[in-house]
Amino acid sequence: MGIMSVPSTTPRPVAANSVWPRLEPLLPQVTKPIQYVGGELGAVVKDWAAATVRWALMYPDAYEVGLPNQGVQILYEVLNELPDVLAERTYAVWPDLEKLMRAHGVPQFTVDAHRPVRDFDLFGVSFATELGYTNLLTAIDLAGIPLLAADRTDADPVIVAGGHAAFNPEPIADFIDAAVLGDGEEAVLEITTIVREWKAEGRPGGRDELLLRLARTESVYVPRFYDVDYLPDGRIQRVVPNRADVPFRVHKRTTMDLDAWPYPRKPLVPLAETVHERYAVEIFRGCTRGCRFCQAGMITRPVRERSITTVGQMVQQGLEFSGFHEVGLLSLSSADHSEIGDMCSGLAEQYQGTNVSLSLPSTRVDAFNIELAQELSRNGRRTGLTFAPEGGSERIRRVINKMVSKDDLIRTVVTAYTNGWRQVKLYFMCGLPTETDADVLEIADMAHEVIKAGRAATGSKDIRCTVSIGGFVPKPHTPFQWAAMERPEVIDGRLKLLKQAINADRSLGRAIGFRYHDGEPSLIEGLLSRGDRRVGAVIRRVWENGGRFDGWSEHFSYQRWVDAAAETLPAFGVDLDWYTTRERDELEVLPWDHLDSGLDKDWLWQDWQDALSEYEQDDCRWTPCFDCGVCPAMDTEIQIGPTGRKLLPLTPVNGLKLPTGAQQ
Ligand code: SF4
Repeated sequence: MGIMSVPSTTPRPVAANSVWPRLEPLLPQVTKPIQYVGGELGAVVKDWAAATVRWALMYPDAYEVGLPNQGVQILYEVLNELPDVLAERTYAVWPDLEKLMRAHGVPQFTVDAHRPVRDFDLFGVSFATELGYTNLLTAIDLAGIPLLAADRTDADPVIVAGGHAAFNPEPIADFIDAAVLGDGEEAVLEITTIVREWKAEGRPGGRDELLLRLARTESVYVPRFYDVDYLPDGRIQRVVPNRADVPFRVHKRTTMDLDAWPYPRKPLVPLAETVHERYAVEIFRGCTRGCRFCQAGMITRPVRERSITTVGQMVQQGLEFSGFHEVGLLSLSSADHSEIGDMCSGLAEQYQGTNVSLSLPSTRVDAFNIELAQELSRNGRRTGLTFAPEGGSERIRRVINKMVSKDDLIRTVVTAYTNGWRQVKLYFMCGLPTETDADVLEIADMAHEVIKAGRAATGSKDIRCTVSIGGFVPKPHTPFQWAAMERPEVIDGRLKLLKQAINADRSLGRAIGFRYHDGEPSLIEGLLSRGDRRVGAVIRRVWENGGRFDGWSEHFSYQRWVDAAAETLPAFGVDLDWYTTRERDELEVLPWDHLDSGLDKDWLWQDWQDALSEYEQDDCRWTPCFDCGVCPAMDTEIQIGPTGRKLLPLTPVNGLKLPTGAQQ
């Protein structure tokens, strides 16, 4: 598990409004009941009556995926540090418990004090992926909150969406009351202040006035205050405010000084098994490498680095608090931190001889990445190496602006093999704009050459690589927001050819693992990513027909989505293809055009044209600004070191030194 201490099993007092007495008898009948129990190290239960503003925070997936989510953990801690504010967590319940909760009248509850979500002032939901939308509907419905925002009263919480998917919340506009774009740390405090004041004033004007006050901040989007007009051909004509005092465009929030927000300080230590059991520190936010498919890179600009000193302190305090054995130094491209060399060697030295393992998500295809990985594995534990060329041919890599040559990749992977790694993972995408079968088949050549070169360099047959393929989904606020998606059957055909090509040479094919997802979930993710308000009818129909946990292949039903789209969209004169496999033109009003990520739409269009001309764009960290628009629009600038500061001389954390033989 990677955990050294477990929380006390002393019974906790049951809160006055707790559903625990009704929930507890149901738990022996469900899978993994421990996930609903709460009381983790790092969890907080505060006095309900003493709180003036109460937040329920949700990551709309199962506990095992939701608990490690950094966004929720940070907001949970930031909010609970305020003496008069209370924040609790809730996760999606599995269908077995949902069924029992419905049968026994148990509402959606928080895991901290098992309070009904409907009792809170605010219900914040963080979406990393649009495939969580059906889980949002389950939670709202189980909570006893009207599904449609328009039907809610002053007695219902204000439902606020956040996370990357909130940059186009239009498909869920009917179900949420508000959305926040960008960094949440300061935004939740601002929202809290507005709610606190409105309540203290005796809730003047009811829910409508509260939402209006939020909308007037210009960084909270309240869909009900905007009308969408459509053209006869189904495209959007315009999105305009229907109230005089709400802004035409809603702007994203950007937290500039990450050192001032060193969260999470008290990471949650899961009780049940979760996807990550480690202390994760975000070493910088934003990315200007300019990969054209990458929504995260685009919407989190500009680059803001956390200083080496703060990272060192966070690691020490986070480990001391949690007892985790693993530290992840996270960001969109961690090897690009201007002080990453010093940071890795400083931390490696600090924790040498302890049982702490350090890791860096490795996607940069160069030898420096291997040097860092080697430095971090001084303690003897080697994490896997993943390189992400993303595109199979040099041509397609120019289209997506991923500047990696085949020679670079082979040289890098061979360096990894000669430095003792026996296995590397190569990550690619399929279905990219302008892609042909030939582009994808080059992945097989590359994998074969990697194995041949690795065997030649090491003299060993004991080396492997795994080729992992994800489906491309065009995302809002990226240069590919105008692109047509490829049909699932074409993607599946290409992947079949690739598999045959990899295995065409048995002696090489045996050393290559092949993992891929079929094209169908990507198409649905594409519908939800670039959808408008009319897609809400599809989401609702899928949910009514049993759609749950759509991010899980065992629960996802492509046919359910196709059927729901066929039943609901023709009434609007559009269909599934219209949203997915149709290329948009320059003048089309996109559903998210009134939501400002800071990126200039003309620049995005030019970058899309550059993609089609296979023209590469440099990284503005090392070259002059290329006017993407973010810095002037947000009144910000890129913030990179070197700070000149080194890791503080940290003393080894108590209890982390274990005899060598006890190291995991
Ligand atoms: S405005 Fe210029 S410096 Fe700022 S992120 Fe965009 S390209 Fe980089």
